[in-house]
Amino acid sequence: MSKTTISEASALDNEETGSLYETARQQFSRAATVMELDDSVRSILEQPKNEVIVNFPVRMDDGRHLMFRGYRIQHNNILGPYKGGMRYHPDVNLDEVKALAAWMTFKSALAGIPFGGGKGGISCRPWELSSEEQMRLTRRFTHSLGTNIGPDYDIPAPDVGTNAQHMVWMMDTYLNSVNAHDRNRGRAVVTGKTLTCGGSEGRDKATGQGVCFAVEFWAQARGLTVSNLTIAIQGFGNVGCFAARIASAMGAKVVAIQDHTGAVANPSGIDVEALKAHSDKTGGLGGFDAADDIDAEAFWATECDAMIPAAIENQLTSARARRLQTKVVVEGANGPTTIRAEQVLKERDIEIIPDILANGGGVIVSFFEWIQNRNCERWEVKLIDRRLRRMMMRSWALVTEAAEQHDCDSRTAAYIVALQRLQDAYAERGIFP
Ligand code: NAD
Repeated sequence: MSKTTISEASALDNEETGSLYETARQQFSRAATVMELDDSVRSILEQPKNEVIVNFPVRMDDGRHLMFRGYRIQHNNILGPYKGGMRYHPDVNLDEVKALAAWMTFKSALAGIPFGGGKGGISCRPWELSSEEQMRLTRRFTHSLGTNIGPDYDIPAPDVGTNAQHMVWMMDTYLNSVNAHDRNRGRAVVTGKTLTCGGSEGRDKATGQGVCFAVEFWAQARGLTVSNLTIAIQGFGNVGCFAARIASAMGAKVVAIQDHTGAVANPSGIDVEALKAHSDKTGGLGGFDAADDIDAEAFWATECDAMIPAAIENQLTSARARRLQTKVVVEGANGPTTIRAEQVLKERDIEIIPDILANGGGVIVSFFEWIQNRNCERWEVKLIDRRLRRMMMRSWALVTEAAEQHDCDSRTAAYIVALQRLQDAYAERGIFP
């Protein structure tokens, strides 16, 4: 049999990484069929409630004004305010944010928190913008969204290309547009803020922490411990870097890491803190003297117990899934696995801990931040970690139970738990009018 060449493989990849919303729709549809979801609820959840698109000018440092397009997709709010990240990336488009918003509805429902699902962002290259330009971009975007966001209505958070500083700019812009008496309460309009401006302890690491809890539960169920595991991670941003740090602190060996600049490997384990310092200093992973530079595609063939894609969507294609030498894929990113790759993983008996379960730590600790803002409280990080672990463990148990009951894969089971909660809410409230 002839081998597939790299160019053939990437042509295949392009073909299979089409519409992200179609991926989300297929995952949803599979679970809805297995659990026999009510037809009315099914048709409501098949599309977002609101699609907000704003075009607005931003002044660049050289005095020119450039037009930008921003999105906020509000998928569903039957369980609580719309909730989800704001992404700054050139690939941001309507199809992508629709998928990401739907996943937020299912993630919040699975976690059992009183939030719905939303997502937004701006198609831009944040790394080409100065800090002042990013500030004006964020403020003008927030202003353009107006009352489409709010602490009881739609609550943004950081995502790819945004961080605590962007959230503080967003909060400040929003607060300057509301009545002075509402300003303190209004800090809950965004989560993922800096500690000084109302953020929560543990929010920065929350998603990576949750990913590591998921790895821990997976290991426990198989009579293993995290300290005996080897792990490879794609993405060295908020989720990937914290997952690498925490997994290392738990005693696991992080044997390979890849980001958009390159990939490095060391079968004896990478010193994650040293790699972070190197990456901050040089702007990339390459040339780190305590690990070998490896080819971007060779990364996927790293021998490890757990592979954690924690970068962007559609990274794990069927061609890469065939190369994996791992026992489990833990989805730190949203939608990292294509539908065809998932099929290959099934054929190869490689397990998946699905995104809506594995990366739920971020929205759970965002929920804690929202509560703290509203009650003027400050919780200690130990309490936050304990509550996060307990909530993720509960979700884990429910997903395991649903997988057994319906004899289905873990992603379908996670959707079933979420969809059951959404269906119950519609049954109790009724569909208006
Ligand atoms: P980030 O911007 O902090 O980091 C993204 C990382 O991905 C960077 O290291 C970048 O180099 C890498 N990357 C981008 N394109 C790549 C490519 N083609 N190949 C290899 N690496 C690439 O973003 P983040 O907040 O860490 O988010 C990562 C993923 O996790 C996204 O899918 C996001 O939606 C999801 N997520 C984030 C949170 C959160 O709290 N930040 C919560 C849940 C899910």
